[in-house]
Amino acid sequence: MSKLVVIGSSSMDLVVSAAKRPSAGETIIGDSFKTVPGGKGANQAVAAARLGADVLMIGCVGKDNYGKAILDNFKKNNVRIDYVEPVTHYDTGTAHIILAEGDNSIIVVKGANDLLTPDYIDKAKDVIQAADIVLIQQEIPEETVEHVAELCHSFQVPLLLNPAPAREISQNVIEKAAYLTPNEHEVTILFKGLTKDEALKKYPNKLFITEGKRGVRYFDGEKEVLVPSYKVEAVDTTGAGDTFNAAFAVALSEGKSVKESLQFANRAASLSVTKFGAQGGMPTRDEVERKLQ
Ligand code: ADP
Repeated sequence: MSKLVVIGSSSMDLVVSAAKRPSAGETIIGDSFKTVPGGKGANQAVAAARLGADVLMIGCVGKDNYGKAILDNFKKNNVRIDYVEPVTHYDTGTAHIILAEGDNSIIVVKGANDLLTPDYIDKAKDVIQAADIVLIQQEIPEETVEHVAELCHSFQVPLLLNPAPAREISQNVIEKAAYLTPNEHEVTILFKGLTKDEALKKYPNKLFITEGKRGVRYFDGEKEVLVPSYKVEAVDTTGAGDTFNAAFAVALSEGKSVKESLQFANRAASLSVTKFGAQGGMPTRDEVERKLQ
């Protein structure tokens, strides 16, 4: 079993659906409300565990009911939580999602995710050093991503940075990460002033741009390659990127080649869009293997 460490956000998604979005000062009656565990870090940890990796999560939640529900969800999905600290002075991170008129609007309150600091990471140095791969995203403080990039580089543990949500990152992080996986929007912010083709060429076998249903593009040192995704009946694309990143990391940690790992990731991510919800659609290893046949 390969050892994966996921460093990132955990939050509770509070999802309300209504016929329309209320305007300022207006009160309307909604149709339904549900709470579902989310956050890019937690989503990627759960996806990787379902794909059969030994996953340890590093993160922070509040000592409240949402935090407890998030920890229970990790346990249910076999994600190790030795380094998910319930803190007393911050609330669990939340995402307030309105589904209306076929679209969503989201307000994220980071809460305890802001406490995932470089000092906190240092408590988990040993498990980071022992990992086959470390997976990180950007819903946590920038200095933490910087610190993890330094640590992984010094331990020679490959770091997969999923630069989502989009923000500029330092050249140091770009150099020290082993793999970068922006989507088409994120890549324009990451490499301002470079076209997509120029950026791909500059970072062969390191920069992988996900292009939704088209699949994923990279430069293999000689030529640009598009690894196509699979044709599916898409129901909900929320969390497609999270499943993609988790599956890519799992396959790489098992020693699969870059190309094989991308095919595995496309397979897992395309399955995930055929079901509702981010975590709801994340496939098991069996489901991905069956798709292989
Ligand atoms: P994000 O969810 O981060 O915006 P993308 O939309 O690029 O990222 O999707 C990530 C990956 O999920 C794609 O590279 C592809 O493998 C898969 N995927 C997304 N949407 C579809 C779809 N409609 N059909 C098949 N695969 C999809």
